[in-house]
Amino acid sequence: MFKKILEKIKEYNRIIIHHHIRPDGDCIGSQMGMKHLIKATFPEKEVYAVGGDIPPYLEYIAEHDVVADELYKDALVIVVDTSKKDRIYDERYNTGAYLIKIDHHDDSEPFGDIEYVNEKCSACSAIITQFYIENKDELVLSQKAAKALYFGITTDTGRFRYRGVDGNILRSASVLIDSGIDIEDIYTNLYTDDVVNLKLRGYVYKNFKSTENGVLYIYFSNRMMKKFGVTRDTAGNLVNSLDSVRGSLIWVAFIEQENKDIRVRIRSRFVEINDVARNYRGGGHLNASGATLKSKKELKPILSELDTKLKKYKNDHPEVF
Ligand code: AMP
Repeated sequence: MFKKILEKIKEYNRIIIHHHIRPDGDCIGSQMGMKHLIKATFPEKEVYAVGGDIPPYLEYIAEHDVVADELYKDALVIVVDTSKKDRIYDERYNTGAYLIKIDHHDDSEPFGDIEYVNEKCSACSAIITQFYIENKDELVLSQKAAKALYFGITTDTGRFRYRGVDGNILRSASVLIDSGIDIEDIYTNLYTDDVVNLKLRGYVYKNFKSTENGVLYIYFSNRMMKKFGVTRDTAGNLVNSLDSVRGSLIWVAFIEQENKDIRVRIRSRFVEINDVARNYRGGGHLNASGATLKSKKELKPILSELDTKLKKYKNDHPEVF
């Protein structure tokens, strides 16, 4: 399939790359990695990356372009890291001449004239890296591409910590490191934060709650985010600050939206949670999912479902505690 993707890239003079709504490190990493890979190999081609608002930590690698509608007509469109059509940013992805999908989610639904989906791969950026490795006689890996791809891999694997990390991922990362990128620069960007965000982290540590069996959660109301002067994305990104309490294997951030919907970000260790996310207009990976609640009335039910899962897991795996 990688050969076919390369053939299509060669065939088109204009390539437009899309990612998913609410971008994260891996979708921007794979988008920018692909853009810079194509640009360095075929400098004569027009290559665009489409995107909207992004959280500050992604500004480090994101270089988005303004793309006029009429440019799509004879373009190859590549959608990265996106499982379903309704999660693609933006809807013009559908107006190109040919569509390629490259993804790693396990709830992927078909779209695209050709697709490469590897749900066993922990990061879409690693798939793009493998695309480079398998075609390295023909492709040029620039420093910009390598940096973006490493950024994507390291963010989606929790800095190479999650279970999905295997030899393939590490081998892919090794190729990127050996290309000469400065990983300290990348990690500095990921680990340093603004004072206001650290204060908000303090709020989370002080105010998170727990269900009976240890599902930890924090609710970010519009009023509270306004008081701290932080965006919804910044608040939502703090979900992982609840990841290190002994005995808790599931943690959740609820983020009130402007229209009063509530975005849910769920993370877990060992326990699969994407089935619960699917019950609340969401989905995602086994241990990292998102959902949407239509009102606060759904808070109790979703927490209760997660609590039941955690209770069962603890009963079935007493050795973990
Ligand atoms: P998030 O908490 O938004 O970063 O989402 C975690 C993972 O779940 C990401 O891989 C998302 O692509 C996926 N995800 C989030 N929301 C949804 C949704 N409504 N439907 C399907 N997948 C989702």
